[in-house]
Amino acid sequence: SPFGFRDVEAKEKVNLVHGVFKSVAAKYDLMNDVMSVGVHHLWKDAACAKLNPQPGEVILDVAGGTGDIARRLAKLARAARARRGGTSTEIRIIDYNQAMIEAGIEKGSEPEISWSVGDAMNLAIPDNSVDAYIISFGIRNVSDVQGALNEAKRVLKPGGRFFCLEFSHATTGLVESVYETYAFKVIPFMGQLVAGDRDSYQYLVESIKRFPDQDTFASMMRTAGFSRVSYTNFTGGVCALHQGWA
Ligand code: SAM
Repeated sequence: SPFGFRDVEAKEKVNLVHGVFKSVAAKYDLMNDVMSVGVHHLWKDAACAKLNPQPGEVILDVAGGTGDIARRLAKLARAARARRGGTSTEIRIIDYNQAMIEAGIEKGSEPEISWSVGDAMNLAIPDNSVDAYIISFGIRNVSDVQGALNEAKRVLKPGGRFFCLEFSHATTGLVESVYETYAFKVIPFMGQLVAGDRDSYQYLVESIKRFPDQDTFASMMRTAGFSRVSYTNFTGGVCALHQGWA
């Protein structure tokens, strides 16, 4: 039913997440550095190198936020084009929060990048039209993760590459205990200190814990129709890069 419990729940989650990012957009970049001790830059570098953008490709950076991924891809794409020639790579950022997009444009764009507001679960993109899709620290916040994966599969060309960079689950007891202390005690405290907003960061930490582990997420990708699904753990599984082919 359109008024069923599931719909209400999903709608509330959308509103809550929207509120979270509206309130953190301004201090977002600073908090990213603080929260991951700057390591998110290395994870993002590794993810973009794996995606390996090529001249003439259309690439979606979904939940692209302030453009951290897209800017890296633009740089790599330009280098590839300087070596091999060909037409420009098209990198489309899609994020459902206008405040994040505006903060990103203010930071500075690149000629390869276009910015638009849209939802990962319902992309205004034709079927089989995209060469590569990346979602970085975004899918955890989507209310229907399987729906977003199905949507990614829909827009990718057959053989197109899918990448998802996301906080994941620690692979050893030691990493887990250090990480739990850091995530549940230090991060909300710093959220209060740096952004004046403890609750939003508490929510982010809880959403990491609730998110499916590496193998579960890999099987959801297979359910969406991706093949040759694999993942790489970074920093003992604190972050994982999932990869698959449409
Ligand atoms: N990808 C960027 C990065 O790696 O730095 C930004 C990540 S930020 C933590 C998460 C972003 O996901 C926010 O900008 C938020 O607006 C966006 N987001 C959450 N749910 C979304 C959805 N259903 N569709 C599109 N964007 C969404």
